[in-house]
Amino acid sequence: MECLFCKIVDQEIPATIIYENEDVMAFKDINPEAPVHLLVIPKKHIPSFAHLTQEDNEVLMPKIFVAIQHLAREFELEEEGFRVVNNCGTNGGQTVGHIHFHLMGGRRMVWPPG
Ligand code: 5GP
Ligand code: ZN
Repeated sequence: MECLFCKIVDQEIPATIIYENEDVMAFKDINPEAPVHLLVIPKKHIPSFAHLTQEDNEVLMPKIFVAIQHLAREFELEEEGFRVVNNCGTNGGQTVGHIHFHLMGGRRMVWPPG
């Protein structure tokens, strides 16, 4: 498997894993853009948001969002706020071809991000 994030799931390459269950994994971004910058992914290889199936939407995506909410609580981001980002495809600026959600917090962010 050539996918970087599948290799992290399989622990073939190291990452600072923060949360894991049967379907979802969260680890620290290697190049953090905020004091808290986690990547939340399904363990299943899905190339991007554009590739989600109806079953993924109904079964997997709720698990991703539950994990994000859990992590936002764990890192005490709820009161001051945080950002959840998915970059999809070329125009979205996606650089790793395994769907992931950035959970960022701990500083004031601006919009639009550019
Ligand atoms: P994208 O640009 O695709 O939305 O986000 C990819 C993210 O993955 C970037 O924020 C980048 O810093 C992060 N990243 C790239 N390679 C690695 C890696 O090997 N380990 C970890 N933990 N993060 C990575
Ligand atoms: Zn993958």
